[in-house]
Amino acid sequence: MAYRFYFAAGSQDLYGDECLEHVALHAKEIVEYLNKEAGLPFEVVYKPTLLTREGIYNFFKEAGNDEECAGTIVWMHTFSPAKNWIKGLKAATKPICHLHTQYNEALPFSTIDMDFMNENQSAHGDREFGHIMTRMKIARKVIVGHWRSDDVRRQLVGWMKTAIGIVESGKVRVCRFADNMRSVAVTEGDKVEAELKFGWVVDAYPVNDVAKYVEAVTPSQIRNLTDEYYSRYKILLEGRDEAEFRRHVEVQAGIEIGFEKFLSERGYNSVVTHFGDLGSLRQLPGLAIQRLMEKGYGFGAEGDWKTAAMVRVMKMMTGNRRTSFFEDYTYNLVPGHEAILQAHMLEVCPSVAEGDISIKVCPLSMGEREDPARLVYTCPEGKAIATSLVDLGNRFRLIINEVECLKVPQKMPRLPVATCYWRPEPDLKTGAEAWILAGGAHHTAFSYELDTDQMLLWAETMGIEAVVIDRNTDIRSFKDTLRYNEAYWR
Ligand code: MN
Repeated sequence: MAYRFYFAAGSQDLYGDECLEHVALHAKEIVEYLNKEAGLPFEVVYKPTLLTREGIYNFFKEAGNDEECAGTIVWMHTFSPAKNWIKGLKAATKPICHLHTQYNEALPFSTIDMDFMNENQSAHGDREFGHIMTRMKIARKVIVGHWRSDDVRRQLVGWMKTAIGIVESGKVRVCRFADNMRSVAVTEGDKVEAELKFGWVVDAYPVNDVAKYVEAVTPSQIRNLTDEYYSRYKILLEGRDEAEFRRHVEVQAGIEIGFEKFLSERGYNSVVTHFGDLGSLRQLPGLAIQRLMEKGYGFGAEGDWKTAAMVRVMKMMTGNRRTSFFEDYTYNLVPGHEAILQAHMLEVCPSVAEGDISIKVCPLSMGEREDPARLVYTCPEGKAIATSLVDLGNRFRLIINEVECLKVPQKMPRLPVATCYWRPEPDLKTGAEAWILAGGAHHTAFSYELDTDQMLLWAETMGIEAVVIDRNTDIRSFKDTLRYNEAYWR
């Protein structure tokens, strides 16, 4: 969706027409700058200065009713008595960014007089506004700095993505084609609470309902999509018969088309499968799921609907760029070279790939189906975040680990899955210990495009606990944080 953001300055009618004219001109100039020069990814819509209780209330109601509005940016150019904001803020349903800026960057020491001070007093008015937001316990982003500065621009862009994650969270619909894997604890969770907290709708269907859709895909549809695969990806036969190889790939093309039709007809944007519950499907959906993820679907394996929903939310925050489902698989524990090899049986999103993407057909070491076709590649170096949402019984906890993705030191020619290789911050031993103490899962929602602050504000807005593992993490204080959180989130 082409989201946009409302921008309004707050004031009051005490200041006289001339001052309010200046307030409006300045706000318009800022909006024009943000739209034309700042290079923001979304449009900012100027709204007239908010002066009264009714005007403020109508502003937030309008933002709430506008499907394409993902949030509001507000700034007190002058002083706006905050009791006037209570009714409006109570009605606000979209994310709020409090832009604590000022029209002039430099304080005009040689010319400043009382008129100037009265007109440019956000240092004063924004404190009144912040006070009522805090008293009302409203989660919001506060950005401090001059509106033309690069830092403010960067923070605004970051907040806009978080705002979209908040709005899109309420649109997540997960289709489960299997229950959680038997006896597994960490993929379980309270689906009612998930809908209350995050707005996620999580439904289940017998897998053979979608298998019927897969069986109904026509040979020409399958041929066309398989041709597309063959033109886009490298084919690694590795000794297999060419015609037999293609027949395996065609099964995944049928799954992709059948699954997508089933999901789109019912309005689902996320999907969950399980290798142990495939009904009449001939292969575990591998390449097919990778392609659906690339198109923006959230995904979790082994019935993991929480991770599927998180992948969807993070894909929407990033405009579906460089974000995937992953699984902590195996370690390199050589001192000085510690890292975790990330993969899954098959299902990693190609949006995180670097270099060639190849198709392989290989046996699956689990389950009892045909050898599934899958996309194989590696991931680029760089900073990223891995997140895990767990249900602790009385609450959800989001665990956010900053990670450094590394080049794999040697090729892995015998490994038939897409991989990423990362070192968790602050180092593997501390990062993994903290992750385990926090109860983090083996499945993650991963992104190169998001940072910790964005995920923290998302979690705060959802009203859930979040813990961070980053370069400053040390185990003693991390354990204290978990202890204090037990008290706060009791
Ligand atoms: Mn798994």
